[in-house]
Amino acid sequence: MPPADKLPPARVQLDRYAALTMTWADGTSDVYPVPFLRTQCPCATCREFREQPQDPFRVLGEGADVVTGDLHVEAMTPVGHYALQFAFSDGHGTGIYSYEYLSELSPPPPHSG
Ligand SMILES: [Zn+2]
Repeated sequence: MPPADKLPPARVQLDRYAALTMTWADGTSDVYPVPFLRTQCPCATCREFREQPQDPFRVLGEGADVVTGDLHVEAMTPVGHYALQFAFSDGHGTGIYSYEYLSELSPPPPHSG
């Protein structure tokens, strides 16, 4: 369960080529790098994909941009007052990232140095 006092976010900032920054109601903030957001896509297809055992012979198709580092967000669309939808440069854009989902994600620590 996320701390309830994080919601709703006070501020949403997107750098389309870098990261999403969420500033929460309690004053804390989280930074979600774009490739991280893409790999945590909450749509049914990506959830299934993540839950599958790793197949070393799997051919990378959708999501390959994550590996090449060219991934960016082409558009961010608010969904009601509870979620954000991202259109990624790899053509994927069906995931609805609710603020609650984002508050439960643990973004990777920022690079130091
Ligand atoms: Zn997805």
